[in-house]
Amino acid sequence: MTGSSTAMPIAMAAPLPRRSRQAKIAWGERVVTVGGDAPVRVQSMTNTDTVDAIGTAIQIKELAQAGSELVRITVNTPEAAAAVPYIREQLDRMGETVPLVGDFHYNGHRLLTEFPDCAQALSKYRINPGNVGKGDKRDKQFGQMIDAAMRWDKAVRIGVNWGSLDQELLAGLMDANSKRAQPWDARQVMYEALITSAIESARRAEQMGLKGDQIILSCKVSGVQDLIAVYRELARRCDYALHLGLTEAGMGTKGVVASTTALSILLQEGIGDTIRVSLTPQPGEARTQEVVVASEILQALGLRVFVPSVTACPGCGRTTSTTFQELAKQIDDYLRAQMPVWRVRYPGVEKIKVAVMGCIVNGPGESKHADIGISLPGTGEAPAAPVFIDGEKALTLRGDNIAREFQDIVDGYIARRFGGAAPVVDAIQK
Ligand code: SF4
Repeated sequence: MTGSSTAMPIAMAAPLPRRSRQAKIAWGERVVTVGGDAPVRVQSMTNTDTVDAIGTAIQIKELAQAGSELVRITVNTPEAAAAVPYIREQLDRMGETVPLVGDFHYNGHRLLTEFPDCAQALSKYRINPGNVGKGDKRDKQFGQMIDAAMRWDKAVRIGVNWGSLDQELLAGLMDANSKRAQPWDARQVMYEALITSAIESARRAEQMGLKGDQIILSCKVSGVQDLIAVYRELARRCDYALHLGLTEAGMGTKGVVASTTALSILLQEGIGDTIRVSLTPQPGEARTQEVVVASEILQALGLRVFVPSVTACPGCGRTTSTTFQELAKQIDDYLRAQMPVWRVRYPGVEKIKVAVMGCIVNGPGESKHADIGISLPGTGEAPAAPVFIDGEKALTLRGDNIAREFQDIVDGYIARRFGGAAPVVDAIQK
């Protein structure tokens, strides 16, 4: 059956444009723009004790090297506040300019006032309106944090979380709701409280003199459908840059899937200017995993490109060896490990596509779609692995060192295409 003559070409799906205003978060010469037409930013948070300045600086560097463009640290005690300038100094010495975000709860007004070096060393303050104080202290203490942001010219994130929602505000909205002819259900009132807390706090900060482009908002919840509902409404009601993330996403597959589902739907709708994936690390898992997942979400949606993508088939009964799984993992690990250096040495390298396939069924075809690909022999096939470069079969690998040789070919391809080196493939063929 052929297509109808009236059929229109089908356009590729794409995320809707964002409409937020842009905030700037800076350290020295490094300026990270968030919102407006800036790329959606990846951020992360340390899980070290901030008082351990060296350990914290090392983890910040790891997160930054993995691709985190902002790193948040806990600032919860006078000792932690005193350590912040030292952490910043250590990072500067290591040549790491990633801006730091201070996470404050309960005593941020005091710490930012009593530790001016801490206030100055941070590039952004996270303020939780539910944890700035109760009663008549709330506005005063919130005001002290905004004062610090204005004094040191820092951005703030007004970060509401349903686990620490402003209880007085919620009680007031519940009370008003009970007087409605048709009261909303409790969940709808809670959504309203999250959004009201964020927007009213931002407006109060602006009334005090903070510029709108110094403000980023978030309203984090841990349910996927709750997050989608809240952020759709938050984005409809204001144009502040939005920090997006599912709070307490959980461990392992559950955390990855829940975060990916929620963030992808919102990002596709043009909602969200910076993201964090709040994974609980599994025992022995690197903290950088949350950066890897956040980057993969943006890359899968076509919003950013961070690392070369490796296309690998899942394997099936046609391939019984684990060779191609090991090769796919080895190449993927290798490309990621090289990126901190390659990003500088080979601009544009992150856009290449590498294919590692298990047999002749889809191997050659998928490898031709990639910049460089290898089709390993499936069960019963001749023990040879054709390599395709720029859509053409370039050579065939045989023997026990296929993995090593393919890695060398990838290396040579990248050096030649992005660094002007002589073709390594030629050398191997000779
Ligand atoms: S390419 Fe071959 S081995 Fe891989 S999934 Fe397809 S049929 Fe199976």
